[in-house]
Amino acid sequence: MSARVLIVDDVEANVRLLEAKLTLEYFDVLTASNGEEALRKAERERPDIILLDVMMPGMDGYEVCRRLKASSATRHIPVILVTALDGRSERLLGLDAGAEDFLTKPIDPIQLIARVKSLSRLKIVIDELRTREAAGEQLGAIDERRSADALLAAADAPARVLVVDDNQREAALLRRTLAETHNVAVHDEPAGGGSPDLLIVSVLAKGFDGFRVIAKMRSAEPTRHLPILAITDPDDPEKTIRALELGAHDVIYRPIDSEELAARVRTLVKRKRYMDALRATLDRGLELAVTDQLTGLFNRRYLSAHLEPMVLRASCGGDSVAVLVADIDHFKRVNDTYGHDVGDEVLKEFAARIATNCRPTDIPCRLGGEEFAIVMPNATGDVACLAAERLRCHVAGAPFVVRRGAERLEVTVSIGVAASEGRDETADTLLKRADEGLYQAKRSGRNRVVGKAGAPPAR
Ligand code: GH3
Ligand code: MG
Ligand code: MG
Repeated sequence: MSARVLIVDDVEANVRLLEAKLTLEYFDVLTASNGEEALRKAERERPDIILLDVMMPGMDGYEVCRRLKASSATRHIPVILVTALDGRSERLLGLDAGAEDFLTKPIDPIQLIARVKSLSRLKIVIDELRTREAAGEQLGAIDERRSADALLAAADAPARVLVVDDNQREAALLRRTLAETHNVAVHDEPAGGGSPDLLIVSVLAKGFDGFRVIAKMRSAEPTRHLPILAITDPDDPEKTIRALELGAHDVIYRPIDSEELAARVRTLVKRKRYMDALRATLDRGLELAVTDQLTGLFNRRYLSAHLEPMVLRASCGGDSVAVLVADIDHFKRVNDTYGHDVGDEVLKEFAARIATNCRPTDIPCRLGGEEFAIVMPNATGDVACLAAERLRCHVAGAPFVVRRGAERLEVTVSIGVAASEGRDETADTLLKRADEGLYQAKRSGRNRVVGKAGAPPAR
């Protein structure tokens, strides 16, 4: 796993030292020697992580951090503040400014790499969500203002915090500190049940293996995104690194400082809420944008988005792709004879027959009205014609039962089939050929399949 790290420090020697250590671990390094340059580079180069010195002449690290977090272009980039040793108040100020983490000078190389790796993992998840969000916005699926509102509303609500720690005094302190704002459950051994927003676990416990708890949470599907704060010992860096590598998002040292605890919990909960809200808007919004409301099949927009790149890949020598365009025969008569509601019932049943006739990788869509399409990745024209014939029989073979069993209708379908051919193929030419096949099927009597090969290449 590699990442681009922006190092910000006014002392040239510090920059070079960090650069050397990170380059050795194959990270890509950018550098800046003051706050203005850091902001410019963060905006222009979009690093994955920013290592930010606090003490700089002019604009100090806190101010840089505040500005990074205030801009929507850079807000999502994790910031590690580099502070002086024992700079407790510096650290608290840093967390208030929105920093994700800190390292103290002189920087321990093992800690440095562990922190950067742990935050790059997080950054990968954030990037994935942002990409999907951008795609959703393009499809008109996400209302940016609404999703921002949802985030704001959720940011200050109390969180469910689960503490697993067998040190009684420590557990009591955790409960006291956090209970003011959050709902806290304390256990002295790993306990199942509930779905917390944050897990705090001691890896120094005597009665259970805290590392195992972290690993288990990380690998189980329902708790994969659960933020984890590990309690470790400042004099045992091995344990700290182990916890981070197993997937803890953050660590706090024993003896626990209650202000630092509150600040770290706030950051972790904020991030969890941000991710949850993003994920929820995406799932709902994307589903609405790409499915047909009547039948539940994909819509034309989804088909276009997926067919285009498949045809492009095929035209560059990749696997071929086939399309099947199906239109119900004399559907207007159904509407005219039985009414529009029965027409809708037929469309739904037709969609269900298409869906059960598809392979898991096929993409069944409703193009509009009584016209449907199936995109078949990795299929040749012959295979697609067989599938089309199977679908045709599946429709004509059994009547459509409508009006809760009161009517049984004979329905047939005409289907045109085309598979990608040659280097000049596009989604449009492919769909057009399938349409021509459909037109021929209609003209020659309906209830049939016509495959259309492309014209032979021009000489
Ligand atoms: P052909 O065999 O040539 O395809 O004849 P057809 O009657 O199926 O085709 P035509 O295009 O003449 O008629 C399609 C009808 O489908 C007309 C339209 O009112 C109806 N239709 C389109 N969308 C819907 C819908 O969502 N629900 C219902 N019930 N009918 C629809
Ligand atoms: Mg029709
Ligand atoms: Mg039609």
